Amino acid sequence: MSQYYKPNRNSGWNYGGPRWRLSRSKIDLFVECPRCFYVDNKLGTARPPGFPFNLNSAVDELFKKEFDVHRKAQTPHPLMVGYKIDAVPFQHKDIDEWRENFKGIQVSHEPTGFTVSGAVDDIWINSRGELHVVDYKSTSKDARIEALDQDWHDGYKRQMEVYQWLLRQKELNVSDTGYFVYANAGRDKEMFDNRLDFEVTLIPYNGDDSWVEGVLASIKSCLDDPRAPKAVDDCDYCRYREAAGQALRKNKEDQVHLKTPPDMSNSKIGGKNDTLF
Ligand code: SF4
Repeated sequence: MSQYYKPNRNSGWNYGGPRWRLSRSKIDLFVECPRCFYVDNKLGTARPPGFPFNLNSAVDELFKKEFDVHRKAQTPHPLMVGYKIDAVPFQHKDIDEWRENFKGIQVSHEPTGFTVSGAVDDIWINSRGELHVVDYKSTSKDARIEALDQDWHDGYKRQMEVYQWLLRQKELNVSDTGYFVYANAGRDKEMFDNRLDFEVTLIPYNGDDSWVEGVLASIKSCLDDPRAPKAVDDCDYCRYREAAGQALRKNKEDQVHLKTPPDMSNSKIGGKNDTLF
């Protein structure tokens, strides 16, 4: 078993356990599919994690260092100047904790009793004292990135809105306008030459966090129900599980007709670990 994935985790991390928190990414999982959310948070089996995006993490880390220089000096970053954003990086005693994964901005939500959390990339403050939530993104695309207009960008927008909601629970003055700082690595050079060149763009987004309370109430009902909710219709994970299960069942049936079945004793398929999904 991979050291990164424990399909049956310690129950203290499940809903009702002392370590359970409702993170921003869990809220997004619920919006995506309540059944997968339930299996993860109530039954304790999460989807296997994706491979870590180390290059993206490196860009985030370097952005953080760069904006921290301006946070300390209370000066606008050149990107803010270029886009005529009247703001500087926000100084606050908790800013490091708010940006830390596994801590983040934490609030107790009275109607549900949940501790809700999310780790923000950055926060800026404008001359009117309003806070802007900022999210760093990095990718590599041919076209200049100036809009979040694809369906899959909805997750990014929800992410921004949850951060805005979290900061408002702390009674901070949060602007509806948040910013995505997008670093796009160009591919049009002759050769790699040990470097990637990025074009950085700033994309404003007007968030609306009015959906958050309703979703938290739905999450509470979901988790308090002993029955797992239905799965969504069109999900690649479930289609894979179904197709793989069918393929394995067919393979097993075919083996019954073989005189000498192959020796699968060292294999996880057809051996003692065969679960046929
Ligand atoms: S449809 Fe199935 S695999 Fe996909 S998210 Fe839902 S429960 Fe998970």
